Amino acid sequence: MKKPAKHAHAPDKGHDHDHCIEDAVIAAEKLCAQKGLRFTPLRKRVLELVWSSHKPVGAYALLDQLRDEELGSAPPTVYRALDFLIENGLIHRIERMNAFVGCSHPGESHRGFFLICGECGNAEELESAGVADTIAASATRRGFAARDMTLEVTGTCAECRK
Ligand SMILES: [Zn+2]
Ligand SMILES: [Zn+2]
Ligand SMILES: [Zn+2]
Repeated sequence: MKKPAKHAHAPDKGHDHDHCIEDAVIAAEKLCAQKGLRFTPLRKRVLELVWSSHKPVGAYALLDQLRDEELGSAPPTVYRALDFLIENGLIHRIERMNAFVGCSHPGESHRGFFLICGECGNAEELESAGVADTIAASATRRGFAARDMTLEVTGTCAECRK
C-alpha cells in the first residue's frame, strides 16, 4: 500500500515554492473530501499562509496578515482553524518556536522529525520510523504510553553552510 516516498519538499533556494503551496492545498482538499470535513475559505487561507514559506510562522504573524482580509478572522476563529489543520495532519506546531509549519506528507502516519536551521529559519520535515520506534520502545520499557512526539533538531542547513 505504501506509495514511493514523495518529493520531500526540501526547502532548497530557488525551488518553485508556488508548487509547494499548490500541492499543499490540493492535498488538503483531497484529505478533507475523503474524511468528509469542510475545508472552509478561512481554513484554506490559514493553510496557504502557513505554507507561505518553509519557515515556521507564529500565530501573531498569521493574525496580522489575516486582519485585513474578510474571512471572519477574529483570533479565536483563526486558532480554531489552526487546531483543525493540526488535528488533520496538514500542519505541525514547532513547539520550541511556538510556530506552525506545513506538513510535507499530509495524510500519512507521522513518524518523522524536523531539522530546524538557526540561520535561515527553515524547518524541514523528514521521515524516519526507526527514530520514533526507538523512542517508543524506550517509553514502553518505562511503562509510559506515548501519544505524540515531535522531534525538533536545531542546527545549520546545507544551504546556509555553503
Ligand atoms: Zn517550497
Ligand atoms: Zn508532517
Ligand atoms: Zn538554513
